[in-house]
Amino acid sequence: MASIQLKQITKTFDKHDVIKDLNLDIEDGKFTVLVGPSGCGKTTLLRMIAGLEVQTSGQIYVGGKDVSKVAPGQRGIAMVFQNYAIYPTMSVRENIEFGLKNNKVPKAERTELVEGIAETVGLSDYLDRKPSTLSGGQRQRVALARAMVKKPAVFLMDEPLSNLDAKLRVQMRIELIELHKKLGTTFVYVTHDQVEAMSMADKIVLMNKGEIQQEAPPEVMYHTPSNAFTAQFIGVPPMNISAMSDGFSFGFRPESASLSKEKLLGAFAAHGRIVTREMLGSETIYQLKTEHGSFMIKSIDDSFRVDDEVHIAVKQDKLHFFDARQKRIAP
Ligand code: ATP
Repeated sequence: MASIQLKQITKTFDKHDVIKDLNLDIEDGKFTVLVGPSGCGKTTLLRMIAGLEVQTSGQIYVGGKDVSKVAPGQRGIAMVFQNYAIYPTMSVRENIEFGLKNNKVPKAERTELVEGIAETVGLSDYLDRKPSTLSGGQRQRVALARAMVKKPAVFLMDEPLSNLDAKLRVQMRIELIELHKKLGTTFVYVTHDQVEAMSMADKIVLMNKGEIQQEAPPEVMYHTPSNAFTAQFIGVPPMNISAMSDGFSFGFRPESASLSKEKLLGAFAAHGRIVTREMLGSETIYQLKTEHGSFMIKSIDDSFRVDDEVHIAVKQDKLHFFDARQKRIAP
């Protein structure tokens, strides 16, 4: 059992509340991703779960047990950081073995554990190599293996892929999803990258300014954002949101509008001019100036050009509505 409960957690630095009365249930065995803009408090929250930072008030439970006064090493938690934390002078084997040696695990058992884990993360052929001779992705796997060898009930990861190039990041995302499936352990993963959150999470916890904005599976977050902040944080480019009269606003995703040189009908329709065009390959992003404001439109049709006069339309079921407090209005 390794669920995590955060109850009324507040963290104050220099009289400033970085986390404000936060409640969160992290389910056992699930891949939970904490996401949000820089400075929203994700890392602070993760460090409090690990015990590396002490909350100003509130309780943290791991596996149903209050760990508020338990030392970091005794919480059954492993943390993987973005800057790997591996020893450059030790071989891959020695790096993975390090924690076991410290815990006086006998040699034969150590060897078996290290080789089993090396196989899980695809490092069997690299055990005698020094980290400097490995690729970024392989080094990241050494860091994971080092954490895994202690068989933690919970893995905490703070932007572990941010030092990798874009292609490797995509590959490691898939490897982490596979690893999570294999281990069945609770993963809590911090990132500021919503694409990473969307692609890996069972549940996304979206934070802003020390508060949770929404917690939901990726599909729910995308289709029914509970407020304008969530609507604009999840999805690229962000949702178009426009003020309506008397305290309401409406929004639609750039990929939800149809685009044409002919007049279009829809629950929302507008006419305007293309002011920028960004061709990305399989899709093209256009910025439009219309009589109802500026909108971003994502289309698989790349034939439109800057200065073209175009029409857009959005169907009723693709419109989102928000009240004066930016909260979603049903549906
Ligand atoms: P990023 O994505 O940029 O890493 P984050 O969401 O992880 O951001 P935190 O690192 O948790 O954010 O920081 C939250 C806030 O707390 C920031 O305003 C930061 O300046 C402040 N903060 C963090 N650690 C300390 C500290 N030791 N002393 C004072 N303020 C701190």
